[in-house]
Amino acid sequence: MQQKIRREDALDYHANGRPGKLEVIPTKPYSTQRDLTLAYSPGVAEPCLAIADNVEDVYKYTAKGNLVAVISNGTAVLGLGDIGPEAGKPVMEGKGLLFKIYADIDVFDLELNTNDVDEFVRTVKILEPTFGGVNLEDIKAPECFEIEERLRKELNIPIMHDDQHGTAIISGAALLNALELVGKSIGDVKIVVNGAGASAISCTKHYVALGANIDNIVMCDSKGPIRTDRSDLDVRKAMFATSRDLTTLDAAFVGADVFVGLSKGNVVSQAMVQSMADNPIVFAMANPTPEISYEEAMAARPDLIMATGRSDYPNQVNNVLGFPYIFRGALDVRATEINEAMKLAATLALAELAKKPVPDLVNMAYSTDNLMFSRTYIIPKPVDPRLLVTVAPAVARAAMDSGVAKHPITDWEAYQHQLAH
Ligand code: NAP
Ligand code: MG
Repeated sequence: MQQKIRREDALDYHANGRPGKLEVIPTKPYSTQRDLTLAYSPGVAEPCLAIADNVEDVYKYTAKGNLVAVISNGTAVLGLGDIGPEAGKPVMEGKGLLFKIYADIDVFDLELNTNDVDEFVRTVKILEPTFGGVNLEDIKAPECFEIEERLRKELNIPIMHDDQHGTAIISGAALLNALELVGKSIGDVKIVVNGAGASAISCTKHYVALGANIDNIVMCDSKGPIRTDRSDLDVRKAMFATSRDLTTLDAAFVGADVFVGLSKGNVVSQAMVQSMADNPIVFAMANPTPEISYEEAMAARPDLIMATGRSDYPNQVNNVLGFPYIFRGALDVRATEINEAMKLAATLALAELAKKPVPDLVNMAYSTDNLMFSRTYIIPKPVDPRLLVTVAPAVARAAMDSGVAKHPITDWEAYQHQLAH
């Protein structure tokens, strides 16, 4: 259960000792004169020359291959909005901490002082030699779409905007499992998506890739259902426009099997949930306040499967289930991108893992002895050590199968062993 956090505690946590949450630590011996001669001049000239000869050797002689840039301009930080690059830095450092503890990936967090798409893209592009991968973070829509699309084209290292794709992958796994529990097929279910921003657009695209029928989807933004007769739509919203004659979110809810909320808190009523089909699925993921509270939704429909973005209720859709392992797999095969096949593989691996018996360690962390695949456990828990050895290899294999791995894995047993130790 999530404990209530006091403001002073959070501030002290960040300020105490060395301010912030990350530091840089040398990985080679440095205690003797000889060590220093190897680490720096003149010894360092040898790897420089080797890399100048063959640029791929940068992966052999430097930290590039395990170094991810977490890059933000602070324009859409958590649910806090456009608070600027400095104010976003604690989040980016936090992401660095999570990358390190869950997947042993090193992070430089980079907070860019620009709202200009061209300047952002140019800056990341010229940083490419330093990094093995790029995690774009907390950049507002619609700029985030163009920034990611352009960088994906222009860079040869894996890149992912986690607010879009991480959420899509985790909620996609949860959706597949929820549907399995209620015996419905993804191709048949009627889905209402509330929100049409960075996360909603990417999630909905991903659900279609998982088999959802676009004709069964109604998306709503702050003005209500996105219909084909609306004249204010950009291309991304237009992609999901419905020709059904729906004018309100209430009307969209009637008979729906699935509700996906990526909008804002308290915009869904009990009556809306009551109007859904049998065994409805509600993912109310607005943070920190969901579209409808867990208590209200469960009281409205006892046959409901519910997920939120919060750790104090069952079925938390938490991006930490994805990004450390997706990048681990991508880095380990030197993937040139994070493509649809890799995202799909991560989704399926997460969904499968939730169906396996849960290790004692995980039960203990939640003070229970009975976590098992059910309506209140449709996705793995973040503390599950099997995530690394399950999701990273699935992503690595998908990168190889889809032809984007520059350094394919040949000995899978050794790779699994290396991940586990
Ligand atoms: P975003 O890009 O700013 O998009 C927000 C979207 O919500 C916009 O399309 C906006 O409509 C729409 N909206 C606002 N009020 C609405 C209302 N009353 N009814 C319907 N739609 C409404 O934000 P985002 O990054 O996608 O995030 C959206 C929410 O999801 C946030 O609360 C965020 O914390 C949460 N989220 C949760 C997770 C998670 O649980 N793992 C992950 C990602 C995001 P307009 O287009 O008309 O402005
Ligand atoms: Mg984020």
